[in-house]
Amino acid sequence: MALVVHKYGGTSMGSVERIKNVARRVAKWHRAGYQVVVVPSAMSGETNRLLSLAKELTVSPDRRELDMIAATGEQVSSALLAIALQSEGIAARSYAGWQVPVITDNSHTKARILSINCDKVISDLDQGRVVVITGFQGVNSDGNVTTLGRGGSDTSAVAVAASLKAKECLIYTDVDGVYTTDPRVVPEARRMSKVSFEEMLEMASLGSKVLQIRSVEFAGKYCVPTRVLSSLTDPLIPLDQEINSGTLINFEDDDKMEAAVVSGIAFSRDEAKITVMAVPDKPGIAHSILGPISAANIEVDMILQNQSVAECTDFSFTVNRVDLQRAVEVLKNEVMDVVQAREISTDEKVAKVSIVGVGMRSHVGVASLMFKTLSQEGINIKMISTSEIKTSVIIDDKYMELAVRSLHKAFDLDKAPESVTSKL
Ligand code: ADP
Ligand code: ASP
Ligand code: MG
Repeated sequence: MALVVHKYGGTSMGSVERIKNVARRVAKWHRAGYQVVVVPSAMSGETNRLLSLAKELTVSPDRRELDMIAATGEQVSSALLAIALQSEGIAARSYAGWQVPVITDNSHTKARILSINCDKVISDLDQGRVVVITGFQGVNSDGNVTTLGRGGSDTSAVAVAASLKAKECLIYTDVDGVYTTDPRVVPEARRMSKVSFEEMLEMASLGSKVLQIRSVEFAGKYCVPTRVLSSLTDPLIPLDQEINSGTLINFEDDDKMEAAVVSGIAFSRDEAKITVMAVPDKPGIAHSILGPISAANIEVDMILQNQSVAECTDFSFTVNRVDLQRAVEVLKNEVMDVVQAREISTDEKVAKVSIVGVGMRSHVGVASLMFKTLSQEGINIKMISTSEIKTSVIIDDKYMELAVRSLHKAFDLDKAPESVTSKL
């Protein structure tokens, strides 16, 4: 009997009525003979509500306690779903992350999954139950509840699918697949029926929130066939229509995929730029600044060191906006005196816009069309970074949507790749 993992996001679980629809859909798969494990998110808005309660008490709450609070959101939605399934006549049982257990490292609020013990789950499945496992959470080796970072239920689902060697992990959400860019920002965005694993990884890491980046990493590492599809269709549509819908993350080399030079545009407002001003331009400075930042488990994204004037230089880098305050504290406490920097300046009103495509490997002029398009819109670029298959820029966040729309048009992403003649 084939085993599948379904993941339902916050909107899909957003009300009792929606939870009933999820139960109807899961029951349909179960009755068709599939073994089903379901990984739900908290009901939409709930994680934000819970975290904001703690922030009312203090600006930087203890991260262990934040995990205790946030993990309750998924516990509620999972139990509700198990009850809804039972009301559909399906034997179902829900488990919190620590009950499975999903073992993680100790990094509260952004823990990584280390292992999953699926014995209980397998035994339940063998007894004909649907198993519901809370998304987003786990437990560390000391028994503390941890969470996997925002959007982490995607990663829970793919990790459970990997560990159970599921036939497919179906990520049900409020869009019917992965689009060339966020369809909420560009209504002309086109759904892709397949997206290469590499492109999906870049899109996710550059801000496309449709999948959490670690879920794509897991899917790649363990070759989990993963599909993004809509939870908002009629839950009783025939299975054969549902099975091939949405967007499949593709792990094979597919010649057709090279047809599009740029496949998608990702963007993120979760950025903040930090500049350490007037540091001496000498060996070891980058390490002195970024070493303590990395030791504090803060991820640095783009880095820019300007040419020196009078043997001093400005050193800029970007971090996730939620880490800005902590990064500045680390710099003040551990770096400023060591590197004898003049001051720190921060800019929270920045956004990152990226073009992504495996076809960029074999085409020149892609970045230049990007820069030309932005300059025609009068958008100033503050930082640039490139890799083989992406170019990212940091710009003022007020121009982010304009930049995404104009780039989507400039790269003809609203048209099917076969119908596009290259502008490069
Ligand atoms: P869920 O609550 O189901 O996890 P998310 O809000 O995390 O859903 O992710 C789905 C959202 O991702 C969509 O509503 C859409 O606005 C956004 N999104 C961003 N980039 C893309 C993209 N390239 N394709 C599809 N959706 C995207
Ligand atoms: N509920 C968590 C969040 O809002 C996890 C998730 O939805 O994937 O980030
Ligand atoms: Mg999500």
